[in-house]
Order: sequence, then structure tokens, then C-alpha cells
Amino acid sequence: MPLPVRRRSIPVTVGQITVGGDAPIVVQSMTNTDTADIAGTVAQVISLARAGSELVRITVNEKEAAAAVPHIRAALDRAGIDVPLVGDFHFNGHKLLKDEPACAEALAKLRINPGNVGRGSKRDPQFAEMIEIACRLAKPVRIGVNWGSLDQDLLTRLMDENSQRSAPWDVMDVVREATVVSALQAAARAETLGLPHDQIILSAKVSGVQDLISIYMNLAERCDYPLHLGLTEAGMGSKGIVGSSAAMAVLLQQGIGDTIRVSLTPEPGGDRTREVIVAQELLQTMGLRAFTPMVIACPGCGRTTSTYFQELAQRIQSHIRERMPVWREAHEGVEEMTVAVMGCVVNGPGESKHANIGISLPGTGERPVAPVYEDGAKTVTLKGEQIAEEFQGLVEAYVARHYARRAAP
Ligand code: SF4
Repeated sequence: MPLPVRRRSIPVTVGQITVGGDAPIVVQSMTNTDTADIAGTVAQVISLARAGSELVRITVNEKEAAAAVPHIRAALDRAGIDVPLVGDFHFNGHKLLKDEPACAEALAKLRINPGNVGRGSKRDPQFAEMIEIACRLAKPVRIGVNWGSLDQDLLTRLMDENSQRSAPWDVMDVVREATVVSALQAAARAETLGLPHDQIILSAKVSGVQDLISIYMNLAERCDYPLHLGLTEAGMGSKGIVGSSAAMAVLLQQGIGDTIRVSLTPEPGGDRTREVIVAQELLQTMGLRAFTPMVIACPGCGRTTSTYFQELAQRIQSHIRERMPVWREAHEGVEEMTVAVMGCVVNGPGESKHANIGISLPGTGERPVAPVYEDGAKTVTLKGEQIAEEFQGLVEAYVARHYARRAAP
């Protein structure tokens, strides 16, 4: 099955990253620290960037947060972390950007929610103030609509127009249309105010899977701006992962989506980098990008009565994640590698042969030996207590032999 053909979008430069055009689909994330807490925010941005987030968004909600942004940027630069920062503005963004000019300069992109820039007569001038700052500093803008904060004036107008139709649409169809129109109208207005066409990215996030698919398909037909995908308020744990994956996979398969964020609610004390890993895994399992070697592990069944192979699969996965920062620097293409860890002879040898390197562990009642395959051929059979360590060593040796050493910069 060929990979989906990406919808044509104009490329937008965000710091050193390109979103849209022929650029790979960008993974982004958002911090959940108080931005005014410089040390805490820097630490979280570093961990998100090290996990693979290519853009990191931070909340800019008050004067202290805006004042902290240039210090956060400076601390990241000192730490050698060049990930572009995106500022998330609502309600008072126009004032914060004006009062703290160093904030806008330190950001690579501004996110503006057209439903939250001000009410009534204040809305247009406040939106214009933010766009004018973006124009002056040549910063791209994401027009980020969220139907939890949809422009109520626009919605009311579209509802009124709908009521005049001979066959009125369903109310939810009008809400979806208002979400799309809000994004397109705000982008058009930004261009009228002078923001170049190639400095605009759009998003229109909702929390329902079918709604998200419908809205983005509509948006994709009506503009060529790069689209930022994400299911908002996706939720916790497996619910958030399944919802985000279901919605985004359908769109990505149609070539829609230039950058993605998986909005997971972390468990209390949970690791924020989970949203980055899930986004990478979504793109990698769909064959759209490669970030880290894939571990293919069977689910186990009645033929594997011990947890040994699950532990080995987990150890290999952790080993790869730990080693990846070093491998990435030294070994070109290592992220394309596949490693199989299988539980018995039923599918073990076959799946191992398809992988770059694979091991087939003994199932219940099988001889306590574990054949290893490299590039489709059996190379060695492991046995004894040190199978995990020995297999890890074989993976290391495979990487060193098969992926060319990158020249030192
Ligand atoms: S490979 Fe073996 S252990 Fe794994 S699921 Fe299949 S039959 Fe079960």
C-alpha cells in the first residue's frame, strides 16, 4: 500500500523548523508548568525537546509569564536546546505582547485563538494589535480555533442564516461550519492586516473524533495553509491515546496534517513527555516518519506462561530509547531499524526474519534456546541466564555494523 500523498500546503518557517510544504510532519507538545516559574518551565521544555518535540508551546497568560519568556529562551540556549518556543495567547495577548516586547522576540511563533481575543468592539483592534506585532517581528502565527471558545458572534450569525434556509442544517453542522469559518476568516483578516500568507498555520480543535475529521477535511479543501492537527481535551491514558490516534490517523491517511500534537491529560505526577512519544509512535506506525527503532513484540498467549519475554521486550525498548540520543548522532538511518522480540516458535522465527534483528524465545514446553535472526538469516542461538544481556549486545553490534557512522560536525 503506497503512503498517502500529502495535501499541498505552503511551507511556513518556525525558527529552524519548517511546517507544511514537503517538510516532514512536525511533532509538537505543550508545557503544563507555570511559565513564570522559569526553572520549572526550562526543565520541562528540555525534557520535551529531548523526547523529540520539535516545537514546544508555552502558556503566556499574565505579565510575569510574558516577562519570563526571554529568560526561558536564554536558559534553553545556554543548555544547547534550540527547540522553537510557541507562545499561547488568550484575552490579554495584545497587552502582554505590547508591554513585554522581549517576549515576542524570544518566541518563534504566536498562537492566537480568534474566539478569545476580546469581546464585542474590542475584538478586532486587539486581534489587529497582535497581528501587527507578528508582522513587525516577522513571526508566524497559528490561528488556533477551539470550539470550547468559539467566536459567539460568528456562531450566532451563522445560526441566524441557517434558520432562514428552506431546509436548515443540523445544529451541529452549523457549529462545525462556524469552527471552519472562524479559522478562515481570522486568517483572511490577518492577511489584510499585512501578515504574509506563508506565515499562517491553522488549527480548529474539537474533542469529538468524528467532528475533528469532518472539520479538518472541510478546512483542507478550503485553504492551503499548513494544518496543525490535534484532538483537544483528548483525556487520560488509553482513552486519550485511542481518541487522538483514531481521529488523526484518518486525516493523516488522507494526507491532511502538517504538524500534530497529542493532548494527553497526564496522570498525577505523570510524565509530560508521554504526549511526544505517542505522537511519534502514531507517525511511525503509519509509516509517515521514523524516530526510533521499532520493537515488534508479540502479545503473548497460553504458549508463554512466564513473563520473561515481556520483560525482555521492555528491556530492549528501554535500552533503545536510552541509547537513541547517542545512536542518532553516530549512526545514519538507525531510526529505521526494526527489532522483533517474540514469545515462541509459532510466529517467532517468521517475524524475526522480517525484522532487521529478532529473537524468538522459547515458549512453554519448547527447548530453552532462543535463535537470533539478522536480516532474515539465523546467526546464533542463545541459551542460559544471560539471554537479555547477550541480545542487547547483539543489537548494539548490529547498529555499529549496519548504520554508517555520521561524520563529526
Ligand atoms: S508468537 Fe507464540 S507466544 Fe507470541 S502470541 Fe504468537 S503463539 Fe503466542
